[in-house]
Amino acid sequence: MSLDFKCQDPGCRQVFKMPSQLRAHIRWHKRHEAHVCSWPGCKLRFTTNGILEKHMKTHNREKPFRLSCLAKLFLQTSHSNGFSPL
Ligand SMILES: [Zn+2]
Ligand SMILES: [Zn+2]
Repeated sequence: MSLDFKCQDPGCRQVFKMPSQLRAHIRWHKRHEAHVCSWPGCKLRFTTNGILEKHMKTHNREKPFRLSCLAKLFLQTSHSNGFSPL
């Protein structure tokens, strides 16, 4: 028999000794749920929109890198297709 009170939130799973602590923690979650990261596969939550925006920048930093790689590949293939800028 376990007297632990576990948070049911996926990815959190904090354990509390008192049900009142768990209830306070769930209220904390509700506040955080206002700013959820919309990045696929991330689902992190933040108290303020500013913190979320900062966090989103770390995702956006990853994206242009991959895009520039794709752009390079595209340019290389379009050059080999006979396009030459004199
Ligand atoms: Zn939790
Ligand atoms: Zn995220």
